[in-house]
Formats: sequence, C-alpha cells, structure tokens
Amino acid sequence: MAKTAVLGFPRMGKKRELKKALEKYWRGEINKEELLEVASALRVAHWRLMQEHQLGIIPSNDFSFYDQVLDTTCMVGAVPERYNWNDGDIDLDLYFAMARGKKNDNQNIPAMEMTKWFDTNYHYLVPEFKENQEFKLYALKAVREFEEAKAMGIHTRPVLLGPVSYLLSGRMVDGAASVLTLLPLLLPVYEAILDKLAEAGADWIQMDEPCLVLDRAEDVAAAVHKTYKQLSSVDSRWKIQLTTYFGGITNYLNDIVNCPIDGLHVDLVRAPEQLDQVLEIIRPDQQLSLGVINGRNIWRSDLGIFIPMIEKAITKLGENNVIISSSCSLLHVPFGLEEETELDEEIKSWLCFAKEKMDEIVLLGKVGTQGKSVIADELTKRQAAVQFRRKSEKVNQLRIKERGRKVTARMLARNAPFNERKKMQQEKFRLPLLPTTTIGSFPQTQSVRLKRRDLKSGKLNQEAYQQFLKEETRKCIAFQEEIGLDVLVHGEFERTDMVEYFGEHLDGFVFTKNGWVQSYGSRCVKPPIIYGDVERKEPMTVAWSSFAQSLTKKPMKGMLTGPVTILQWSFVRDDQPRKDTCQQIALAIRDEVADLERAGIHVIQIDEPALREGLPLKKTEWPAYLKWGVDCFRLASAGVKNETQIHTHMCYGDFEDILDAIAAMDADVISIEASRSDMVLLTAFGEFKYPNDIGPGVYDIHSPLVPEKEAIINRMKKAMAVMAVEQLWINPDCGVKTRNWPEVNDALHNMVAAAKELRGQIKISG
Ligand code: GLN
Ligand code: ZN
Repeated sequence: MAKTAVLGFPRMGKKRELKKALEKYWRGEINKEELLEVASALRVAHWRLMQEHQLGIIPSNDFSFYDQVLDTTCMVGAVPERYNWNDGDIDLDLYFAMARGKKNDNQNIPAMEMTKWFDTNYHYLVPEFKENQEFKLYALKAVREFEEAKAMGIHTRPVLLGPVSYLLSGRMVDGAASVLTLLPLLLPVYEAILDKLAEAGADWIQMDEPCLVLDRAEDVAAAVHKTYKQLSSVDSRWKIQLTTYFGGITNYLNDIVNCPIDGLHVDLVRAPEQLDQVLEIIRPDQQLSLGVINGRNIWRSDLGIFIPMIEKAITKLGENNVIISSSCSLLHVPFGLEEETELDEEIKSWLCFAKEKMDEIVLLGKVGTQGKSVIADELTKRQAAVQFRRKSEKVNQLRIKERGRKVTARMLARNAPFNERKKMQQEKFRLPLLPTTTIGSFPQTQSVRLKRRDLKSGKLNQEAYQQFLKEETRKCIAFQEEIGLDVLVHGEFERTDMVEYFGEHLDGFVFTKNGWVQSYGSRCVKPPIIYGDVERKEPMTVAWSSFAQSLTKKPMKGMLTGPVTILQWSFVRDDQPRKDTCQQIALAIRDEVADLERAGIHVIQIDEPALREGLPLKKTEWPAYLKWGVDCFRLASAGVKNETQIHTHMCYGDFEDILDAIAAMDADVISIEASRSDMVLLTAFGEFKYPNDIGPGVYDIHSPLVPEKEAIINRMKKAMAVMAVEQLWINPDCGVKTRNWPEVNDALHNMVAAAKELRGQIKISG
C-alpha cells in the first residue's frame, strides 16, 4: 500500500467553533484560557478524525489562530517595530494586535497589511522586513503542537512555511533590497526549529514552498538551492518533504532535485503533465507525494484517472516511497457534507468536502502492488456518481450550450465608438462637469439584517419584508436627492451579497448550509456552487430598479455583478473550461441588461471587482485569461443602445499591469478604488491615456473616518492633473454597506460640496 496524507485541514471546525471563540475573545466575553481550550479541542478533534479515517500521515502546525504566515513571523521574531515588542514572549494579544491593529491611549497602531494567498480567497498578513532584519527563534508553536498530538499517541508531520516562500510573501519597508538578501539571516532560525522538532521526536517535516509554481526567477532558484542544501540535515535528524502546490514546478525541477531533499510533493490536479518529468528526474531514494485530490474544489474526483499515475510512480519508486495526498491544504474547502441536509440528494452525491476528500485519498492509497482490484467495487460505485453527474440533465442543457456556440464577435461590441456614444449620452443625461455618484450599496444596518432574520425564521412574512425594503429604498433615494448626487442608486437593501443574490436567481447554482471556508482571520465565506449550465429564469433586478426610478427624475443606475466576479467568488464546475461557464453567466447578465434598458433604466453598472484577482499565477497565462474575461464583460454589456451608459466598478488591487484589458472592456465609465494610494493609480491611467470616463474613489469606505471637503478637493486636483476634467467623475472607493448612516451622510455631503466647489473654480478659470 502507498502512504496517504493531507497537507493541512480546515481550522475553523465543523460549526465554525474557532470563529465564534475568537470573536467572543475579541469582544471580551471569554478569557484567554477559554480560547486556548477551544483551539486545543479543535486540534485534537481534527487529529482524531484523520486517525479514524485511517489517514497515514497526519499534519500538525497547520492550525492557526489567524494566519500561518503571521505564525511564521512570530516563529522567527519578525515583529514590526510599531508594536513595541520587548523581545519577550509573543502572547496572543500582541499576535492579534499585529493581525487586527490596536488602540493604545488615543493612538491607533495599524494592523499589518493583508493580501491574497496566491490565487485563493485566503488572505495572509504581509511580513514587514528591514534591511539586515534580525531573526531569532521565538514562538515554538510548531513544537508544542507536535507534542500535543504526540501526547494523544499520534505521530504527526509538522508543517512549516518554507523560508523562501516566507520571505517572498513579505516586503521590505525600507530600501530597495530584495527580500531574498535576508535568507542567510533567516536560515539559522529554520535550522533551530528543525532541531527542536527533531528533539521532540519529529522525523518528516512538510516544508511548503508554493513560490515554486510562479514564473521562474534566477534569484529564487538560487535561494531554493541554498536553503535546501543547508537545511537537509547531514546526520538525518529530520527529513524534509519540499512541498509545492497551486501549479507545476517544471521551471525549477532541476534546481529542486539537485538539493539533498528527502521528498517532494507536486500538485497533479493543476499540473498533471509534470508527473513524467518529475519521475524521470527524481532519485529512487526520494519520496514522491502525489497531490491528486483537489484541495481547491468541492467535487468528487474521477478517481480512475489517477490510478495509472499512481501505478507509474510505484513502479519507479516502490510503494514505500509514494504518498497519495491532497493537491494542497484542505484549508480551502469546507469541513464536511453531513450538515447539508437540505441539499438536493443527487447534487449532494457529486460533492466532496474535506472529510470526504480524506476518504478518496485513503481509497487511492490502497492501489498498490495488489493493484486496483482490491478497491474495484468501491471504485465502480464512486465512478458511477461521477458518470451520473456528467450525464445529468441538471448539469447539461443543450439549449444553453447551443446559445453559447452562437455568440458572435458582433455581440461583443457596442454600435458606436466611445467618443460618439459620449456625445449622445451627454445629450440625453445633461450631467454637470464632474458628475457625482456612489458605487451601489448603502448601509446594511442592524435593522435590515434583523428583518432578514425575521423573514427566515418565519416571524415576518414576505409581503411585510418587501414593504420594509421598499421603505428603505425610498428613504435612500430621498437622501441622495437631498444631498444633491447626480446619478442615484437604489441602495441594494434586498441583497445580502453581490454574488449570492445573482446565484439565487440563476439556474445552475446551489447554496450550502454550512459550506464555509476561511477568508481571513475569523472571517469565513460560503461560496455558491455552480454545478450546471447557467441560465436566467426571469428578470433579477428589474422590479427593484424600476421601482427606484419611479421615485426620482434623476438617472437611476441599475446594479449588476459581472460574470467574472460571479465566477471568481463561486466554486466552479470542473467538467468544462471556466471560460465556458463564464460565458453562460455573461449571457444571463446580457439578458438582464436588455430588460433593464427596456424598463427605462439607462445607466447600468456591472461590477467586476474580481477581474484582477482571477489572474493566473504564471504571467504567460495572463493574456488568455484577460481575453476571455474581457470578452465576457463585453458580451454582458454591449447589447445596449449607444445612449445607454454602461458603468463598471473595480476595487482591491493595483491595476497598472492590466490597463489594456480595462480599456478593452470599453465601459463608458469605470469607478475604481484610488484613495488608499492617494490617486497614484490615476497617474497610470493618465499615462496610458485611458480613453473613457473614470471615477477615482475619493475616499476610503473601509475607514470610519469622514473625509473633509478639502481632502476630496485635493485628491480630485491630483486626478485633474493627469486626466482631462471632462473624463472625471466623483465617487467613493466602493459601496458603503459596512458604514453607518451618520458617517455616510457626512462623507457624501462633503463629496458633493467638493464637486460643487471644483465646478465653480473651473467656471471662473475657464
Ligand atoms: N455594488 C457593490 C456595492 O456597492 C460593489 C461591491 C464591491 O465592489 N465589492 O456594494
Ligand atoms: Zn468595490
């Protein structure tokens, strides 16, 4: 039998126990001991569960109170200066201060910056390094957790984030030196922790180096070589499994195999083609871990396709040197299916969460010298479910597929070019210079959320709920008229979430009750599952937008979520290319756009905040992705008359490197997040000569601080220095659903006042 393993397990617990305990602790409702107890109980439960599932290799140190990169920062003592750390213990309060910021007698100490972990929806805390950064071994969490499992009689394989990926996940706060210059200072700390782990009885160590799936860079290759030469213990006190995931590593294969590492893990879900090359080059005494069970989606695997791979590896290396594993940590999938009592039974039979994925791994582990006959019956049974899904009418609808095939280039383009459309739109809307608008949502207050809860629990009937939403919308529109905004929105009170709302109205989506995955810290998301061909049953937003338009003479903006964002924030089917699923969503949105236009909504915003985050990890794959992503946006938006004004909105991230694609979307107006970079971003748009209209966000909606009128004027002046004033709109950075009404009132008042003052100044000088 081959060995079996997972690279990590979801941390939150079956019922998100960790999330609840963390938030209670932060609110002061439980003490430190109680929090530690919950955490320990979860680790113990998860180890037991893996043991019960007969998993061979069980990970430890995959648990975290907040984030594994922050844990590594604590391990090596790289606490940024502003936390006034005195070199002592890094206790939980300091740890959470780094994660979430802290108030110190009137002084705000900001949290460390957060950013996305590769192409997942998990966010980590970005390490901050100085030149000649001092590293010292501090937190012994890895050792403690190894010992904790050992005390239960479970011998685990500790997980460490490898030094190269750790450094590359961080940034230098001073100077321009590469983070990799710090490697010689960091490696002794890793040697020390490996030493301590070995002393505690660990043998194999899982060292994660996902940076190896990125484009090759010579300095990274050299760093990896140096690291694993130095860390592979001469006297074999420990064994290192160099662990890579989220893509193929053939770019680095020679550098890796030349290191004296004892084992290698490769992701064969994202890059199955690398197996042959890996097998050719790996030494017969090295272990190979085959990442065959997808740690990034929720589908049952087609196990049959892995059997030849496993057999090939066993032939070359022998059963003892082959491990069957998840492609990456199971952190990115929900806990288990047993809570999903309300899911359609057929659809449920196609799904596979972390717990069920362990069963798949263990089953494949039985393919050994005895061959697949040992598991033939079980395999046949599982294969049947996969086959049913493939053939199910729930999944494949000829009519929808046919429509996709009939999409023509003509459908992707507006009738007239932007400059002609702009004249017609000006004629129609007669907006002032520097028009003002907002991004869509208004405060989702406690009362909105309570009403929604009451509706769910049956306390409130549908009619009363709708009445309540209408009232909120009415107030929101009256408010916008009163403060003098130019293009209004309805406020999105009927939506919990910008993707969920559309998923609930489209065919081909299901929602789970408990399918949570960690996004950052205690925050979890429950992505919809796209299981089948997507189609719009009936208009999704027209009634709300028409109702809103009936309350005002000003233009009302219809609000839609774009196809790429809906795709990106869902679990996507794996039986057809992502771009085909995206195109189906685009067609559904196109229908909605047409209905909105017909209903008299002539400004329509299609949000694409996730366009940038969908970029593939390897740059060579960017153009293909951007091509279909932009085409899908155009398919969704281009079916309207020239006079109809299409807006889009983007936030989260730098857009400098995808300006071509943004311009190719050909939205009449784009609103983007720009205030956090203090309009620096706009310079890039200016230099690019971005042709269409643009609304740079003039204040950060994530902060409760109300922007002063003067600050907004200054920001707009910066924008006017790089873009023509006729091109510019004034709006916040994003929707204001997380803010309260007094903040929104003051902020938007100042924003409109700033617009008026700027218009006055321009009139005088012009
Ligand atoms: N229209 C959405 C809102 O205002 C956009 C949200 C987003 O960009 N994340 O809430
Ligand atoms: Zn936004």
